Amino acid sequence: MSLPCSDQSIRPRKMQSASLPRGVEAVRCWCGDVCKVKEVTDFSDWLGMKFFMCANYESDPPESISAYVRPPSPPPLCMYYRWIDTEMPDWAVTEILERGRRAWASLDLEERREKAEAEEKAEQKKEWEDYCVEQRAFLDEMKRKNQEEKLRLEEV
Ligand SMILES: [Zn+2]
Repeated sequence: MSLPCSDQSIRPRKMQSASLPRGVEAVRCWCGDVCKVKEVTDFSDWLGMKFFMCANYESDPPESISAYVRPPSPPPLCMYYRWIDTEMPDWAVTEILERGRRAWASLDLEERREKAEAEEKAEQKKEWEDYCVEQRAFLDEMKRKNQEEKLRLEEV
């Protein structure tokens, strides 16, 4: 029989009620109550993994215990939980991979969009510059023609 895991640092934070997997016997926590079965719902290395948790853990943990009423070990707070699964189920592995892939895909898309935008801006700038050059040439031409006309009129 494996030891209950009391390492709170890796106790999952997001969870939902789950059913006891086939072939697994319910266990009792330090309070002596039959444990609840929970399943990790946050996206972590434990997604989808089931574990036993003290039935009193969530609902009604004692706030403080009087020094004169010391319960037998290990409460004050029964923080009993124990992993049922030792690895993530297949769907969770897929889900995590899929999330990662989607994140990368959207990042890629964002990058491509930014690049296209920058290219379009460069294109517009160039078009504007070309237009300016054309306009200047046109104006120069007008000026030259006016000048010629003026000279021609003076000659007459
Ligand atoms: Zn308990």
